[in-house]
Amino acid sequence: GKLRSEYRDRIYEFVETCKAADVRCSEAITDAKGHRRRRPSQQDDPDFYVRVVDRQSDGIVISGSKMHITGAPLVHEQVVLPTKSMKPGEEDYAVACSVPTNAEGLTIVNTTNAPRGEDTRHFPISHRTNMPEGLLIFDNVFVPNERVFLDGETSHAASLAHALGLWERTNAVAYSGSSADRLVGLAALLAEMSGASERADVRDLLSEMAIFATMCRAGWEAAMKNATINEDGTLSPASIYISASKYYNAELHGKMIDILHDIAGALLVTAPTIADFENEEIGADIREQLGGGDYTAEERLKLLHYVRDLTADTYGGWIAVTESLAGGGQYAQRLVTLRHYDLNEAKRLARRAVGIGGEVAEAPASASVVV
Ligand SMILES: Cc1cc2nc3c(=O)[nH]c(=O)nc-3n(C[C@H](O)[C@H](O)[C@H](O)COP(=O)(O)OP(=O)(O)OC[C@H]3O[C@@H](n4cnc5c(N)ncnc54)[C@H](O)[C@@H]3O)c2cc1C
Repeated sequence: GKLRSEYRDRIYEFVETCKAADVRCSEAITDAKGHRRRRPSQQDDPDFYVRVVDRQSDGIVISGSKMHITGAPLVHEQVVLPTKSMKPGEEDYAVACSVPTNAEGLTIVNTTNAPRGEDTRHFPISHRTNMPEGLLIFDNVFVPNERVFLDGETSHAASLAHALGLWERTNAVAYSGSSADRLVGLAALLAEMSGASERADVRDLLSEMAIFATMCRAGWEAAMKNATINEDGTLSPASIYISASKYYNAELHGKMIDILHDIAGALLVTAPTIADFENEEIGADIREQLGGGDYTAEERLKLLHYVRDLTADTYGGWIAVTESLAGGGQYAQRLVTLRHYDLNEAKRLARRAVGIGGEVAEAPASASVVV
């Protein structure tokens, strides 16, 4: 249906209110989704996608759930958006609105990858940087009109979902270069500690990681170089480079972790605890056995626990899944990349190269001679 002009005014007003009062919001997009091949209205449970269950003169009432919502219990507002495009007949599912975290009828079930009760020195990253994800359950939650940004216009459901998907992916791509550099650095330090850094095979592995890190940076730079500025002055990185880089990073991230583990060796998961190291009875033996080279045994232990926490424990598992799924899985990145890719131009080039479809075959350019 035709978009109501008041939505735009409400969105701007909401943004201004958030800016003025320093209000933090979640992006509550991903629905429970039930059976993936069925449309929202064909699910066994109609609440597998958030939907409007009642329309009143002063607002709407919504039910359903949103999953995996980053920081949900920490923010003031849950900004609910459709998870994908909706078709005619799915008007109740084409809903966007903002719901205060303490709204009546909203329950949040939290998960966390925070280490539970162990010595935080073994979890140098995850004890500081963990973030809860919430399962939001909306049970007949009333949303006043001024907080409703879409209600029933199926043709606009996807544009909201896509707009936010871009920022979710952008976040991942923006950090991918520095995260990859950190992996390269960790691998190089581990190699130094075991005296393997000059071995040809280890240098080969490090070059592979360096190429990965460089390509991650290149993808981000291309996305920013081709960014566009909309009428409100908001700068948007180029979608095609964001989705292609996100895909590339997720595709190879696991391989980079494998290389890191290969270089680290088994101590990565069998290193003694820091408490053992400090123990009066056995500490001296540990210092002796883990010493050598330019680093102390304590430095080596710290590095090993850091890498284990980052890549081979609860938080590492969370990162591995998040790399491929947050901002949409690989399937979504392929879809978005192809949508923005100029396939017609690629076909035209191919027709010209072959000399078919009315194109005259061109001699290969001299620059393409293989040397
Ligand atoms: C740490 C973390 C934080 C997140 N934070 C947020 C957040 O703040 N807000 C938010 O909204 N979401 C968030 N997400 C969710 C994230 O966006 C989703 O995980 C992602 O969109 C994939 O959805 P899914 O997990 O339901 O997997 P699915 O979409 O179910 O994908 C799983 C598999 O099913 C396949 N599949 C899916 N649909 C179909 C179909 N129709 N036909 C055939 N095969 C299909 C996929 O190709 C894939 O192989 C977060 C996820 C993680 C891991």
